[in-house]
Amino acid sequence: MQKPPQRLLMGPGPSSVEPRVLAAMSQPTLGHLDPAFLAMMDSIASMLRQAFRTKNPLTLTISGTGTAGMEAAVTNIVEPSDRVVVCVAGYFGARIADMVRRVGGDPILVEVPWGRPVPPDDIEKVLASTAGPIKAVALVHAETSTGIMQPLDDAIRLAHARDALVIVDAVTSLGGIPLDVDGAGGGEGIDVCYSGSQKCLGGPPGLAPITVGPRAHAALRKRKNPPVSFALDLRLLEAYWGPERTYHHTAPSNSYYGLAEALELLLAEGLESRFARHRATHERLALGAAGLGLDFLAEPEHRLPVLNALRIPDGVDEKGVRARLLAEHNIEIGGGLGPLAGQIWRVGLMGGSAREENVARLLTALRIILGAGRMSRPTRPS
Ligand SMILES: *Cc1c(COP(=O)(O)O)cnc(C)c1O
Repeated sequence: MQKPPQRLLMGPGPSSVEPRVLAAMSQPTLGHLDPAFLAMMDSIASMLRQAFRTKNPLTLTISGTGTAGMEAAVTNIVEPSDRVVVCVAGYFGARIADMVRRVGGDPILVEVPWGRPVPPDDIEKVLASTAGPIKAVALVHAETSTGIMQPLDDAIRLAHARDALVIVDAVTSLGGIPLDVDGAGGGEGIDVCYSGSQKCLGGPPGLAPITVGPRAHAALRKRKNPPVSFALDLRLLEAYWGPERTYHHTAPSNSYYGLAEALELLLAEGLESRFARHRATHERLALGAAGLGLDFLAEPEHRLPVLNALRIPDGVDEKGVRARLLAEHNIEIGGGLGPLAGQIWRVGLMGGSAREENVARLLTALRIILGAGRMSRPTRPS
C-alpha cells in the first residue's frame, strides 16, 4: 500500500482521526457473532445513547456512511405516497427530499435561500396548508453545505401537533454542538436521528449511528410492507443488535473498534467540554478570519461552530488556494457546493481537528497564500 500523507483535515469531514482510534482499528478482526464482538456492540449502543442523550432501546450503528444513515431513516419511515415535509436550507436537505422521492413518497419542500435556517413560521404554514396526513417532518440540524445551525424545538412541537414524526440529520452535529434527542422540543423528543462517524465524533468514515424513538418504532411495526432496502431494514438490524442476535450482515468489526474508541474519547472528555472546545476553536477562527478580511456567509446567531462557511474575497482563485493549502501545508479545507460553488470555503472544526493549534496553523497558511498576492486573479475592467 502506498503510504497516505499526513494531512490536517479541516474540511466538511472526515476530520482528523486520533492515533488512539487508528490503533484500535488495527486490532484483530472478530467474527460478527463472536461473543466478544457482541459485547462490544452492546457497549457501542450504550455509548451512543449517552452521546445522543436518549434512552431509546433501538440505538445502533448502520454499517455505511452518513448517507446510509439518512437512507435508513427515510427508507424505514416513508412508505409509498406518504407525504413528508422536508426543510431544505442546503445540499443535505435537498438530498433527503431526493431519497423521499426515490422510495415513492411525496416530499413537500420548505425552502429557504442557502445561508439561513428554515424559520418555524414557514414550517407551520406548510403544515397548515397541506391536506391529509403527513408522515414526517425532516430537518438537517447542522447543514454542512452552508454552515448553518437549524433550531429544532419549535419544528418538533409543530410536527407532533400535526401527528407527524420528526427525522433529524445530526451527521455534523452529534458530538460537536448540543443535541438532546429525548429532551428536544420541550421533552417531546426527536423520533429518528442519525449521524456519521467521521465528523464531530472523530471516528473513521464508514459508520452511521442512528436512534429510533417509541413513536417511530410503532410506525416501523405498522408498515404494510417491509422497506425496499434489506441492508438498511431497521427491524432486521434490531434483531441483530438485540437479544436474538440474528445474522443480518457481516459487521465491519475493525471500523466498529474505531467508533468504540472515538466514543470512549468523547465520553471521557465529556459532552459539555467537547461542545465548549468546538465553540472556542470557532471563536478563535472567527477572530483570525476577520483579521484576514474574510466574512462569514451566515449571521452570527445562525453560525455552526463546527463548519465555518467563509466568503471568498473578490478576485481570489478559490480552487488554487485550496490546492496550495493541501500541497504546501498539508491542510484540507472544503469548497462550496451547488449555488455556493466558488463562493465559499468550508472550514470544518470537528472532533480531533477542533484544536486551537490547528486553527493557528490554518490561519498562518492562509496568510502566506493570500498575502503573497499571487493567488489573486487579475480583475478585468467591466
Ligand atoms: C456529511 C453529511 C452527510 C453524508 O454523510 P456521508 O458520510 O458523506 O455519507 C449527510 N448529512 C450531512 C448534514 C452531512 O454533513
